[in-house]
Order: sequence, then structure tokens, then C-alpha cells
Amino acid sequence: MSDQKKSINILGATGSIGCSAVDVILANPDHFDVHAVSANENAQKLAETAIALKARSAVIVRDDKRAELEALLSSTDIEVFSGVDGLNAVSKRPVDVTLAAIVGMAGLESIMNAIRSSKAVAIANKEPLVSAGALVMTEARAHNTTILPVDSEHNAIFQVFDFERKASINKIIITASGGPFRTWSLEEMGAATVEQALAHPNWSMGDKISIDSATMVNKALEVIEAHYLFDLPPEQIEVLIHPQSIVHSMVEYCDGSVLSQMGASDMRTPIANVLAWPERLETPGQRLNLAATPDLSFDAPDLERFPALAMAYDCIKRGGYACAAFNAANEVAVDAFLNNKIGFLGILDCISYALEFAEGAELPTVKDVQNYDQDIRSAVLDYINNEQKTKAKLV
Ligand code: NAD
Ligand code: MG
Repeated sequence: MSDQKKSINILGATGSIGCSAVDVILANPDHFDVHAVSANENAQKLAETAIALKARSAVIVRDDKRAELEALLSSTDIEVFSGVDGLNAVSKRPVDVTLAAIVGMAGLESIMNAIRSSKAVAIANKEPLVSAGALVMTEARAHNTTILPVDSEHNAIFQVFDFERKASINKIIITASGGPFRTWSLEEMGAATVEQALAHPNWSMGDKISIDSATMVNKALEVIEAHYLFDLPPEQIEVLIHPQSIVHSMVEYCDGSVLSQMGASDMRTPIANVLAWPERLETPGQRLNLAATPDLSFDAPDLERFPALAMAYDCIKRGGYACAAFNAANEVAVDAFLNNKIGFLGILDCISYALEFAEGAELPTVKDVQNYDQDIRSAVLDYINNEQKTKAKLV
């Protein structure tokens, strides 16, 4: 990498992606100048992260945790912010790269702020890309801001996607591990516990995305994410089950060449790729040892046991409202599942319910997306509560 330090904001610095990014930066301290780090509520971890990275400021979104963060940072000159206002303030400050690693739609506003003020925005936070993908990409084009995909599949595609000769691309092939329930019957999944659903075979991740991987909603979100990131119609986006998670995704060209990016199942590789882009960085990440790797296998997904994938293709055809409804319903349903309010298959039931009344093409503004997102959340919450009155549990 060049000698000049890159200025960087890490939004969601205490999460699984945030911690992997911290590891990459601590292994390359001469390359980065960390401006801001943020977290939702874990003041202790945020303070440790801010000190370790020598960050200039730290934002805790929960206002009631501000005093704790101030006390923890009192012997430093790290500036403390709090609340959504604090997150908005730091995400509006100009930096070379913002790493968007918040989970869920809570990250949308800060992504839009970063697009207007950062040179590049590295997006792990896929939910805003699903619900407001058209607005995010339009804003990025308007501000000449580079969007760098962090999601391992999209980062793989990004590394082998010839943007200059896009017409020569036949399709992209997104690989999926199949999650912990890849071989389970629907009946078995109906009785799955939270603990079983959280136990991903290949990746260690935050709770929400782990549940999304078990339902394969994660892959559904990724199909929609790819549609917006690479501006491809659903016919040019394919999903392939690849349980070993070594081939992170592929691009097929018109001459039959298929290019892929491979690597160990370690998010520090795609994170290093986006932080250093267009250059390359050493990472503390695992190395791929193909000789010691089990045989690689590829299979078509089973849409009957994992209907979320088919729903995602349908959502893209129906437009922005359907994509936003899909995401909002899933966020509420995953939270309900994690809190034992609904069964595992109840998550898909909630999404189907929300999609029944999603109509209309693109939502025109960020405010419209946020309002629509809230409407769907309320409707799905009512649905869960009403169903609970009639049945013991949504299954
Ligand atoms: P996580 O739950 O481990 O971390 C989430 C981070 O966001 C934390 O720092 C938390 O403090 C912050 N946060 C949570 N709620 C917030 C709120 N309301 N306002 C502001 N900040 C809030 O999640 P994760 O697994 O790191 O995933 C982050 C994003 O990256 C998700 O969108 C996920 O789908 C995506 N992603 C994650 C992985 C992975 O390996 N973990 C891989 C690909 C994509
Ligand atoms: Mg992924």
C-alpha cells in the first residue's frame, strides 16, 4: 500500500465485522488513521476499541450509555458522541473510507451520510442495500463515491467483475454454504431451537445474520443486494450451494470463462480487500490450503425447503416496496425467533404475510423507505401477536 495513511470511520465497530476490521487495522497500523468508531450499547468494548485504534472519536448510540463511555475515556482525548444524532454527525465527516458494519436498517441514514462525505463506502450492512438499494446506488453515482462490497460473495464478484466490459458477462453465481440446516427436512426445521439455528458450520457471525443463514434469507438478501450493487436483472443472478465456503462466488463470461475468488472462510480477507482497495494488504487472516481442504461440491438450491430464495427473485421483479417489505418483516421475525416468540419456520411465514400487501415500484426517498419499513414492522408485530392469541406459537 502507499505510504499515505487512509482516514477511516468504522460504524458498528464492536460487532463481528467490526472486530475483524479492527484486527486488520491493528495488523497494519501505519496504513490507517481511524477517525470515528461507533457501537449501539456496549460502552466497554467501544472504549477498548477506540483506545486500541487511537480513534479520534467514539459514538455510542444508546444515550443512556454516554456517561459510562465518557468515564471510560476520561483519561484520553477521544471525543465522545451519543445518540442517532451523534452517529449522523460523525458519519457526515469527510474520510477516505467508511466501513458500514451496523446490523439492520438502523444503518441506512449513516450509509447515506457517508456516501455524501466519504470517498468510498465499504458496505457490510446489507439490509439498507436491500430496502433502499436504488437510492443508495443513485446517491453514490451522484457523489462519485465508490461502493465497495464487504459481503464475502459480493466482494468475490467485485474482484473478478469486469465493469468496463459488463456486456460480456453472462451471469454471476453466488455461492451459499446452505447453513446449519442444509440437509434438514422441513419437519426438523419446524422444531429447530435458537441454539441450533445460531450454530453456523463455517462462519462465526452476529446473531441476526446467523439466523438469516439458517433460513437462507441471507442468500435471498444477497441476491437482492447483488441486483442493486452490480445492476443486473434476476435472470443474470444464480445461486449455487457450496457447503465448503471456499469459492466465494463467480462471474461467468460470454466465452464460457468462469472467474472466481477463493479463500478461507475468514471475513478479514474481504475486509482487507475493501480497506486497501485498489491496493492489497497483508492480513492476519487464515490462508487457504487446498491440499488439506475436503472436496469442493456444488448443488442447485432446494427451493421447497428454502423458499426465501424464490421470494427474493419475486421481490426484485415486483420492485422496491417488496424488497423493503421482505427485509423489514425478516428483521422483526428474526428478533421474535431469537426471543422465543415464534418458531423457526414462523420467520418465513412472517415474510410471506408482509409480501401479500407490498405493492409499488421504487420508494422515492429515504424517508419513504423508513416510513414504509416502520409500517411493515408494525403490521408484522401485530400479526405475530394475533397469531400468538390463536396458536401457541407461529411455526
Ligand atoms: P453484529 O451484531 O455482530 O454487530 C452489529 C454492530 O452494529 C455492533 O457494533 C452494534 O453495536 C451495532 N448496532 C447494532 N444495532 C445498532 C443500532 N440500532 N444503531 C447503531 N448501531 C447498531 O453484526 P455483524 O455480524 O457484524 O453484521 C453486521 C452487518 O454485516 C450485517 O448487516 C450483516 O448482515 C453483514 N455481514 C456480516 C458478516 C459476518 O461475517 N458477520 C458477513 C457478511 C455480511
Ligand atoms: Mg455473505
